[in-house]
Amino acid sequence: MRSRKVIIVFLICCALLSSVAAVAAISNSMMISREANLILDVTPAPHSDAVTEETQTPDVTETPTEKPTPTPTVEATSTPTEITTDLDPEKPIVALSFDDGPGTLHTERILDVLSENNVTATFFVVGDMANNHADVLARHKSLGCEIGNHTMTHKTNFKESGVDKVMEELKGVDRLVKQATGDETRLVRPPWGAFTDEVLKEVDRPFILWSVDTEDWKSRDKDAVVAVVKRDVFDGCIILMHDIYSSTADACAEVIPWLLDEGYQVTSVSEMFAARGVKLEGGKVYRKAPTAQEYMESKSNN
Ligand SMILES: [Zn+2]
Repeated sequence: MRSRKVIIVFLICCALLSSVAAVAAISNSMMISREANLILDVTPAPHSDAVTEETQTPDVTETPTEKPTPTPTVEATSTPTEITTDLDPEKPIVALSFDDGPGTLHTERILDVLSENNVTATFFVVGDMANNHADVLARHKSLGCEIGNHTMTHKTNFKESGVDKVMEELKGVDRLVKQATGDETRLVRPPWGAFTDEVLKEVDRPFILWSVDTEDWKSRDKDAVVAVVKRDVFDGCIILMHDIYSSTADACAEVIPWLLDEGYQVTSVSEMFAARGVKLEGGKVYRKAPTAQEYMESKSNN
């Protein structure tokens, strides 16, 4: 009798241990990677930066928090607003883009730097991050920055998901941004830069990729980020960073004044393209704007 009891207790312990191991394995495999590679399976973010870890999107929820909307596609792109700009299209321009935020403290510091230097940028926000930060979204707007859509959860790969799922991800962010700022998001940055032609066509919004990848998520090092920008920057480029790292905020404080000293006009994605006479269209992919040279040539040809 007693030995039977011992065996039962032993079996219960075994069952408990194996379920704990299974949960650990699942959550480990669900770490979010950043855009730098077009592959999902890049190195997970290391755990060195406590503040950053706090701001990461929760990994486990598979079910999106918002209800699927009945209306399919388009809508937000139906009335594109005209962009006005004071930029000189005949002088060098770069667009700054920040993904995965708002990263609270880090985003606020980046906004301080932008404001001090009288420049703007595009923030491709994640809904789960923006949920409790309507104030940050409102500040983006008040500083003249642009808000783009980087999906509700950052968990849906546009290469592997149907259009309905993708639209559900985008509409969640649309709602949050509309509530916080009164504006609709137009530009989309697909997580990891991954998508299919079908999704691109069906979603019918401009997909904005990048031409200078700072890999700030990987290095977490201010000097490395500054060095990449100084090495790779060119007229018409879109620079990719993430406003969820303190090292990226540090890098901005250094590299934005440097860009201005070098004669670059620093701005948001939409403003750069508008200055160069390009209307961003749904169903198309953009990685860089025409250079000043290309702009002047096309003008003289018309
Ligand atoms: Zn991202």
